[in-house]
Parts: sequence; structure tokens; C-alpha cells
Amino acid sequence: MTHSPTSAQQNSGQEQFLTILSREAALARFEAELFPRPLPTEKRTLANALGLVLAEDVAAPVDVPPFDRSNVDGFAVRAADLAVASEPRPVRLTLNAEAIACGTVPQLPVLTGTATSIATGGPLPRGADAIVMVEHTHPGLSAIEVGRSISPGQFVSNAGSDMARGEVLLRAGTEIGSREIGMLAACGIAQLTVARRPRVAVLSTGDELVQPGEPLRPAGIYDANGPIIAAAVTENGGEAHFLGAFPDDEARLEKAMREALAAHDVLILSGGTSKGAGDVTHRIIGRLGKPGIIAHGVALKPGKPLCLAVCEGKPVIILPGFPTSAMFTFHDMVVPALRRMAGLPPRVDTQVTASLPLRIPSELGRTEFAMVSLVQGQGGLTAYPTGKGSGAITSFTQADGFIRIEALADHVPAGADVAVTLFTPRVRVPDLVVIGSHCVGLDLVVGELSRRGISVRSLPVGSLGGLAAAKRGECDLAPIHLFDPKTRIYNAPFLGDGLELVPGWRRMQGLVFRQGDERFEGLGAEEAVRAALADPDCMMVNRNQGSGTRILIDQLLGVERPDGYWNQPRSHNAVAAAVAQERADWGVTIAPVARAAGLGFIALTEEHYDFALISARKERPSVHAFLEALRTDEVLLGLERAGFSRPG
Ligand code: AMP
Ligand code: MG
Repeated sequence: MTHSPTSAQQNSGQEQFLTILSREAALARFEAELFPRPLPTEKRTLANALGLVLAEDVAAPVDVPPFDRSNVDGFAVRAADLAVASEPRPVRLTLNAEAIACGTVPQLPVLTGTATSIATGGPLPRGADAIVMVEHTHPGLSAIEVGRSISPGQFVSNAGSDMARGEVLLRAGTEIGSREIGMLAACGIAQLTVARRPRVAVLSTGDELVQPGEPLRPAGIYDANGPIIAAAVTENGGEAHFLGAFPDDEARLEKAMREALAAHDVLILSGGTSKGAGDVTHRIIGRLGKPGIIAHGVALKPGKPLCLAVCEGKPVIILPGFPTSAMFTFHDMVVPALRRMAGLPPRVDTQVTASLPLRIPSELGRTEFAMVSLVQGQGGLTAYPTGKGSGAITSFTQADGFIRIEALADHVPAGADVAVTLFTPRVRVPDLVVIGSHCVGLDLVVGELSRRGISVRSLPVGSLGGLAAAKRGECDLAPIHLFDPKTRIYNAPFLGDGLELVPGWRRMQGLVFRQGDERFEGLGAEEAVRAALADPDCMMVNRNQGSGTRILIDQLLGVERPDGYWNQPRSHNAVAAAVAQERADWGVTIAPVARAAGLGFIALTEEHYDFALISARKERPSVHAFLEALRTDEVLLGLERAGFSRPG
């Protein structure tokens, strides 16, 4: 398949995806190109086999135990001799002149009327067919008396009863853990044939990428994909080699890709596949070997720009740049092939059923994955979409699992039962659920609860989203900061039936500017706003409609619409970042955020951050603990140190 952009597309630096394959078609083509293929194997000693995958079935080379063995300390006897024994009429057996310990080969037979002393684990002598426990005998120097009859085979493990010679113990495809190692050791196996882990080269691409541990430069982004992909490769049976991040330079990248492919079985890149200007990886693949690109553009969301290729039998994959897209496409489209190359069986994911609290719109024609967090709802589990979009790494890492919306659906209705594929083997139901507006102060309370062994799930969905969740009974508490301009009261006017207000803390709102900016230095709040409005070069950063801060800004501005007004980010931190990075000169945010960003701050007014509590949940132990934690010295001091204040 070739993509030939028109000259108009080339001029704009943007190409279009000419052929979008369905998820199923792309997978089928990719796997048809790769399989069947021989499984490369290697020999490993037992000591170096942990975590590897058996390449062939293993049969027991010997019987285990190798001989009939005593399970107790006692005497080897012929059961028939004791047929008539009873407490009042014990049978006397003459002792043979040997005692069998573990590792002793018996020399004397047990003839009728005799017994041989034997330890647990000792091999049975010829003639003996059962063991009588030492506790059930009256031993003398040269004979014993036995006051009960026993059945043949009593306390004897027969040769091969644990593992029989020739019996298949482990099947190809089994992952070798400590239990498997124990079993193999027990039958004397020192060396195994295992699947050789596919060697997977992982490369990140992008001029903006910075490795974790290095200082972030302006416009830089930490390379998240490299480490996640390498770890996920290891989790799925591969041997990952992270080769670093490469700038979008066609010549350098081609050299790196050629070298990586020569030394590895699989090449996985991320980024540079979107067909934007500077996205070059997919163009290089065509030159790396036949058949080349199998699919570029798959009807997946997230993950449309995924590129699957096979070059001279080796899979070459370009994952989308956004970490969440990269991980979804990796798990959904690459892991099946990787596991097969590693000799592993297909992964079995745990699924649970949960109901959706909200309608999820979905794009028709693309298989869509929506990440969800699970909370205990009234009738069962509720699956909360955590969607921050595919650019957000936390939408992947903080979710419990995901739901799959088939390509033919354009939405999933609210209230629908959905199958949630879990990221972890079990559902973790938290003790306390907090849904609403997030605040760094909340982390202090959650920290205090976690020290008390109480697990908290906190979903940041904004004040209004939190209130809606509280009204649906999906959380215990909803943190909110909503100003009612009519009553000029925070939060209380927004509570409905069944909710009550738990006072939280106050956050000083103020005007922020870069320290040393003489337009603002030393001014009071009103003067500062007047100064900003008077200077046409002074750029503001606004806040989103519906936020408490925006109400404040609108009051400050009146009818003025200064430059920057339409830049309306959704968080306190984004305002601070815009001013610190000189994309704006002033904005309004809260004091702790201004302080953390090293900005100048002119106090305006206090915002109230409180909690809407579902009254019916008031008596829950975890809610009690939350209310208590709010009042502890640690939390109060912590809040104060971070720049929050508590209502008098
Ligand atoms: P691209 O596909 O290269 O256009 O990248 C799409 C988006 O993903 C951009 O915002 C990139 O900065 C981001 N991105 C690409 N690679 C990485 C990476 N390794 N780690 C984190 N973000 C990345
Ligand atoms: Mg890029």
C-alpha cells in the first residue's frame, strides 16, 4: 500500500490517511503476514528459567518418588501378619537387624512375622507392604507388639504416585514460576528448552522529548512512551531494549531504525506517525524491507494513526505519540502478536459488568476504548469514564479498566450495563469515594486517611460533575467551590435534597504576574487590574466559563475584553503556567499555585472549597475518618503551610 500525497497536501505539511482499515482487518493482515513462524528457542538451566516460557512439553524422566516410600516413622511390616491383631491380643513381630533411614538401601527382607524399623522417607524393604506408625506399637529391644490391624499400602507412597515416568508434567506455553521450578527439580531436570524472548527495540521519536531525570527545557515533554512500552513489552514476554528518543530527522532516524532492526526481532517506535509536518517514521519503513506497511490508519479511538508493518519477517510498529493512545494500541494490536512470538498463550483479561452513569458519545465507524474508574453504585459497580482525552497519561494509569465501544455504535446510553476489562486482576473497591473538584489540599487529607489504612478514590471531574455524582449516589463526598452571584454565598446554595455541607478550607484568589514585572509590582488589586487594562501590550489569561475564578474575573473586567480574554484554560495550574512561560502577563489563580510557580501575587478574595456530603452516608466509618482527618493537626498544619486557610 502506498500513500501518495498531492502537492497541495505536501505544501500544507499535512497528509491525509488514504486508507483506514477496521481494527479487525488490520489485525488479521498483520498476523497473516507474521504467522505461522518457527518459535526460536534456547536452553536454560533451572536456576535461570524463572519467568521464561516452556517451548516444549516436559515429561517426567523418572518416577517420583522413585521407590515405595514410608510416609511416617514406624515399622515396615506385612499387613497380613497383623490381620488378627487387637488391643487385648496384640501380635508380636521380631525386629530385623537394620534400621532404614532416608537414603539407606535396605539389605534384609521383611519375612513373615518380622518388622524393620523405618524413618519417614525411607525406602520399603523387600517383602514389606505397609507401615505401622511407631505410636501404634509397643517397641521392645528385639521385637514389637502391635495392637491393631492395618491394610496393605498403609502409610506407603508408591513409586511414581506423585509423578509417573513419562507423564507430561508441563505443557509448552507455560510460564515458569517457582512452583514449576519445584516440580522440575523434583524429577531431576536441570536444563530446559524455553522460548527465546523476542528482542524488542523500543525507540521514541520527537524533537520535544526529554528523558526522565533530565531538566525539562522550554516546550519539552518528558518521554513517557519509551519507559511504558519497554515495561509493557517485558510484561508480555519480550526482552525490551530501549534505545532512547530520536529527533524527527529522517536521516538519523533511518540509521537508528536500520541498526535496531538488524539487531532485534521487533522494532517499536512511537510518535511521528500522524502524517503531520515532521512525521517521518512511516516514510522510512517503506525502505526497510518487504512487504513494508500493512496498515497505516486504523479505525480505532484512541489510536487512529497506528502504523503496522512487517519488514523481512520482522514486525515494525509505530505507535501513536500520545501515551494513552500508544498504550491502547500496543495492548490491543501488538500484544497478541508479541505473545505469540514469545510462545505465550493469548492473554486472558478479567472482565466485570458495571453500569454507566452517563451517556458516552462515540464516533461511528471507529472501535472506541473508553477508560473507566469503578465505584460501588447503589445497585452494583458503576463505571465512571475518566476521559481526559488521549493526550492525558492519567486517563490510562488511574483507570481501573476500559470498555470497548464497537465501531457501529454512535453512543452508549446512560444506565447501560457494560463489560469492563480490568487493568489489574481484581477490582479494588475503595473505602471512600470523592468525586468533584480537585485541590492539592485534598491530597493532604487523602494522605492522612491512607496512613490510617483507608483507601480513597478521588475522581477530578469539577464541582458541577461532583454534585451530579453525589446526587446519583456514586460518591461519599463531592468537593465543590461554586459561587452564587445572587446570594453571594459559596457552595451552600447549590446543595439539593439529601446533601449537606462539610466546611473545607479557603483558598486565596489573586492576580498573578511574573516577579519583577514593574507594571504590577507594589500595586493593590484594583490598581493592578486598571494598570493591566491600560496597557495594550499587557496580555491576560482567562478561565473557563462556569469556574468560580471566571466569575471573579468577569467582575474585575466589567465590559472590558483585553487581549488574551479568549484564552480560557480549565485549571489554576494552567493560568500559572501561561504567566510563568510568558504566554500571558497576568491572570487569576489561587495562592498555593502561584507560590509553587514562583509568581508575584496580589490577593483578591477568598474562595471556599467545601464538601457536599451525602447525608445517608454520614455514618459510614470511612466518612467518619474523613471528617476526623480534616481536623487533625497534620492536615491543618499542612493546609496552612501550603497557603490555605481554615474558616474561623
Ligand atoms: P506525534 O505522533 O509525534 O505527532 O505526537 C503526538 C503527541 O504525542 C505530541 O503531543 C507528542 O509530544 C506526544 N508524544 C510523542 N511521543 C511521546 C513520548 N515518547 N512521550 C510522551 N509524549 C509523546
Ligand atoms: Mg512527534
